[in-house]
Amino acid sequence: MDTLMELAKKGQHPGWLEKVAKDEDIDIELLVKLIAKGEVVVPRSILRGDDFKAKAIGRLVSTKVNANVGTSDDYVNVEEEILKAKTAIEAGTDAVMDLSTGGNLDRIRREIMAVVDVPFGTVPIYQAAKGCKRVVDMDEDDFFKVIERQAKDGVDFMTIHAGVNWNSVERLKRSKRLLGVVSRGGAITIGWMIHNQKENPYYENFDYLLELLKEFDITISLGDAFRPGCIEDASDRVKYTEFILLGELVEKCREAGVQAMVEGPGHVPIDEIETSVKAMKFVTGNAPLYLLGPLVTDIAAGYDHISAAIGAAIAGMSGADFICYVTPSEHLALPTVEDVREGVIAARIAAHAADLVKEGQREKARKRDFELSLARKNLDWEKQFRLSIDPTKARQIWERRKSQSDACSMCGELCAIKLVKETFEKKY
Ligand code: SF4
Repeated sequence: MDTLMELAKKGQHPGWLEKVAKDEDIDIELLVKLIAKGEVVVPRSILRGDDFKAKAIGRLVSTKVNANVGTSDDYVNVEEEILKAKTAIEAGTDAVMDLSTGGNLDRIRREIMAVVDVPFGTVPIYQAAKGCKRVVDMDEDDFFKVIERQAKDGVDFMTIHAGVNWNSVERLKRSKRLLGVVSRGGAITIGWMIHNQKENPYYENFDYLLELLKEFDITISLGDAFRPGCIEDASDRVKYTEFILLGELVEKCREAGVQAMVEGPGHVPIDEIETSVKAMKFVTGNAPLYLLGPLVTDIAAGYDHISAAIGAAIAGMSGADFICYVTPSEHLALPTVEDVREGVIAARIAAHAADLVKEGQREKARKRDFELSLARKNLDWEKQFRLSIDPTKARQIWERRKSQSDACSMCGELCAIKLVKETFEKKY
């Protein structure tokens, strides 16, 4: 059976793609062309049914948001992770990834998947590593067996750190990085390579990996093992080496008919974000770019969702397509349900800010801002709540200190909007 990309290369598409085009308000023929070129991906396993909400990620479509959930060794509460997934979806995430590393990983993944009707992603090497007493004891087959196992559950996209090889590890050793490797998947892969003195199995057997993914039409998210973990390490040669390797792998994916997106940094000062995003887009032939943040400072512990949203908005303006949320718990602890909600909302604000200037999205995104501002001018509170990114919180704050007048309690009878309106009586 043809993959979505193979179909698109023939100028064809499955029926369900019509709904995706309609949701994005994009011509179906154009969407098919973008998928064929690899500039847009629509992660969707062949095991998905009609109730699945497929999403397009990439050029000319709206900027998307992902929320990570999952257990850790220290904290295993499956019900809470399920609630986090539901909360993330209610808050408007476009995708959910299960990054669980504690407890029965097959059961946890399946139970979380059962409540997720948007693209669902995993990082299979976590489960491969947890299957052995010591990470370094994995054999090469373990890297692949877990992919098959998760594929059979209907996972739509997988982060795989294939862009690490001996050459880049040598470059890492020569580098003066402060934090070295902060990607969990990257650290597992590199640790295994050094201990076993072997090439990265995902890099060495990339064609086999693509065969596995192709069978279920899974989208590969090429992981950034060398994402900088602090401002000091941003945009160094180690990271740029990985960009180039990922670009080569994207080409192989496209030849094989496997949809591919590319993951990016990390921690980046704001004046380096545009260069970094454009370089990644250039070397990967405009592959959809999936960013964690980037965080624009290291000192915002407790508020890293804000640091990340600042970076994500700039990255989105420069061409990033898919924003992985960061929660207030980043760098400190496993997030709570409320952290998840805050993280999704912060990432959605960044995504919308990017869409206000993104080709193909500008008009649609600006219409909502215009409508909200008009409601603000008319002191139409219900409409303001409805158009707000977080209607519940907006209403709660308004009701907390409700004004005696039809304005809000910030200025009350001295409401500038009201005074001007009464003076000019100008309405749209
Ligand atoms: S009262 Fe002040 S803050 Fe509230 S709507 Fe009027 S001008 Fe804006």
